[in-house]
This record gives sequence, structure tokens and C-alpha cells, in this order.
Amino acid sequence: MAKDEYMERTLVLIKPDGVQRGLIGKIIDRFEQAGLKMAGMKMVWVDPKFAKQHYKAHVGKPFYPGLESMITEGPVLAMVLEGLHAVETVRKMVGPTEPKQAPPGTIRGDLAHHSYQYTDKKGIAIKNLIHASGNKEEAEEEINLWFSADEIFEYKTVHEVHVF
Ligand code: ATP
Ligand code: MG
Repeated sequence: MAKDEYMERTLVLIKPDGVQRGLIGKIIDRFEQAGLKMAGMKMVWVDPKFAKQHYKAHVGKPFYPGLESMITEGPVLAMVLEGLHAVETVRKMVGPTEPKQAPPGTIRGDLAHHSYQYTDKKGIAIKNLIHASGNKEEAEEEINLWFSADEIFEYKTVHEVHVF
């Protein structure tokens, strides 16, 4: 059966602050409860070269050095999530970049509270637990950067009984 045009995959990273705070299970639980399918998952310790590839849009910005230190300071949990409108759905669940502004109910709003005022003063990246692809093009590019084809799995979840 051909895949529906609204069926998407997106890249999600639980960043080093989320891994070190022991929030992997809590965060994954939210995506599973929403019915998103885990299509791929692995733990990776990012090096500076890979950080520049992943965050290429931000290299050269004032906060980039702090961002590179943050993303390379410990392992990240990388995953590919699949579902209807997965890119938008996941971004909605993750919430705005600054945890201080992120509303309750979002991952960043419920599980973190860092502010730009604080990180600007300290010259560090904002710790917001998670990365999620910003749009469909970014998602495709990021999934290709992080995962090889044989690390992505196709299988049926029970949710599909109710969705299709
Ligand atoms: P992500 O790409 O990680 O999902 P995002 O799309 O919400 O986050 P981006 O603008 O892509 O935000 O920034 C990438 C990351 O860089 C942010 O998640 C945050 O950790 C850090 N960052 C972004 N802007 C700032 C800033 N002004 N000061 C400090 N850190 C920042
Ligand atoms: Mg982004």
C-alpha cells in the first residue's frame, strides 16, 4: 500500500542535558502516547565536525561556540519518529526554543526552565533538552545525516489499525 502523503518522518534528538538528567524515558513516553512510531533509534556522542554538519545553519552565529560545546558534552539519543504530519506534530509537542517561554504541556515548558537572559550572560547555549527538525526539508536532510537506510525500520503499530 502506498504511504499517505501526510505520513512523515522527523529527526528528534534528546540532547546531552536530557540524557544526563535521566529524562529519556519520560520524553519518549510522550511521543509514544501521541501514537508516533519509533522508526529508528541510537545513542551517539557527537564530535565538533558532526556538530557543524548538524547545526550548519547556526555556524558563525554568536551562540554557536556554546551550542557546539553543549551538543558535544555527552551522548545524545537520536531517533526517527513517524506519523501523520510528524514534523509539525513533534515541534508542537517540543515547544518554543526558550524553555522560559515554552508553555506548560510542552516538553521544554514542563521539563526545563532555562532563559536567554541567563545564557547570554554566561555565554552558553540554551539548554532545552531536545532537538526536532524544523520543516520537512530539514527532516529529510537530518535523517540522512544521522541514520543509514538499514537503521530505519518499517513495521506496523496498533495505532495504524485506527488511523488507516
Ligand atoms: P533545535 O534546532 O535544537 O530543535 P530550535 O529549532 O528550537 O532548536 P534553533 O534556532 O534551531 O532552535 O537553535 C538550535 C539550538 O541552539 C537551540 O535548541 C538552542 O539550544 C540553541 N540556541 C538557539 N538560539 C540561541 C540563543 N539565542 N542563545 C543561546 N542558545 C541558542
Ligand atoms: Mg532548529
